[in-house]
Amino acid sequence: MKILQADYIYVDGKYIENSAIVFDKKIEYIGSIDDILSKYPNIEIEKLAPNSVIFPGFINTHVHLEFSSNQTTLEYGSFVGWLRSVMSNREDIISDSDNKTMRVAIYDMLASGITAYGAISSYGGELEESIKAKQKVVFFNELIGSNPQTVDMLYSDFLERLELSSNYSKENIKPAIAIHSPYSVHLIVVKRAIALAKEKQIPLSVHFLESSSEKEWLAQSTGEFREFFEEFLNQTNSLTTKDDFLDLFNGYSTHLTHAVEVDDDDIDKISQNHHSIAHCPRSNRYLGGKPLPLKKIIDKDIKFSTATDGMSSNYSLNILDELKSALMIHHNININILADKLIESITKSANDILGLNGGVLEEGRDSDIVVMRLPNEPKSMDRISLWTILHCNEADKVYIDGKIVYQKI
Ligand SMILES: [Zn+2]
Repeated sequence: MKILQADYIYVDGKYIENSAIVFDKKIEYIGSIDDILSKYPNIEIEKLAPNSVIFPGFINTHVHLEFSSNQTTLEYGSFVGWLRSVMSNREDIISDSDNKTMRVAIYDMLASGITAYGAISSYGGELEESIKAKQKVVFFNELIGSNPQTVDMLYSDFLERLELSSNYSKENIKPAIAIHSPYSVHLIVVKRAIALAKEKQIPLSVHFLESSSEKEWLAQSTGEFREFFEEFLNQTNSLTTKDDFLDLFNGYSTHLTHAVEVDDDDIDKISQNHHSIAHCPRSNRYLGGKPLPLKKIIDKDIKFSTATDGMSSNYSLNILDELKSALMIHHNININILADKLIESITKSANDILGLNGGVLEEGRDSDIVVMRLPNEPKSMDRISLWTILHCNEADKVYIDGKIVYQKI
């Protein structure tokens, strides 16, 4: 059993003072110092450095570790331009993203306070390092393939990977399913994969409306995507429309990634079906996307996470960098309200989306805990989210299941 006392603790969306948290593998109690001294008289209280803030562990719901080696290879500026550069450089990036590179990427996430992540896995390449990772991992085995001739083979490969990741479910790996996108997966297997997710009751994710080119292709089979599909897949028509595709997910809460091109009707449908959104602001900016209509998403009470995406479309996997960028992008939301929402998006909301037992500091939750340290005493308790995002770049300490796994030097 351990007791940590900090100047501030993030509880139920607010910051409380003069309190401490008691935990073992699970959180036992959070309360005032006086309460804790009388309830646990024989346990020493560790007092954290001044201006420390205790948060639940941060959760990154969407990362592609198999592309971790990319830095100066892939083209930024337009989605289809980027996609073409992925097609040309895929082999090299994947072979350079060896275990050591992925280990460093996983460690970088940990240093920024990430205690759980959703790995979107195209080939299963990050499974070995994810099993060794300190973090909890929701392992999204990705299904891709639109060619009717090869789709059955690709589906059985996907099933094998899903099965393999399920072997580690007693450890830190939770198996899950990702469908690549409306433009890249044949509807026959999309339906099978959705049915499988429902049957197994495991998390389901899909990239959805990431670019204007995707939206145009789904609506009328024209634009940059048409040139791309003709060239690479000898295909001239979209296999589905955005509405028909989204309707396939009705009734099963799905994590939609990006969704920057959603309109008001899409937002209504997403809300009615209790889907959630992975908001990846830096990735969207680099690939020429427009900002997610976050204000509308918040107004409709749609759950969203803020996530880094992979190094294939980012310069770091530091979740605090991602929040800083999100603050700059959504100028139509009051900055203090936005900061609180962003902290919620990487704690409570991300936890609910991935179906884990962290995300909140309360009795019975896993002891996944992050300590951040502000540079000075905050003059207002209502601004701690904002100042944490602006001034913190690295966690001071990180605990997972009650054990210390990272400490700032
Ligand atoms: Zn992605």
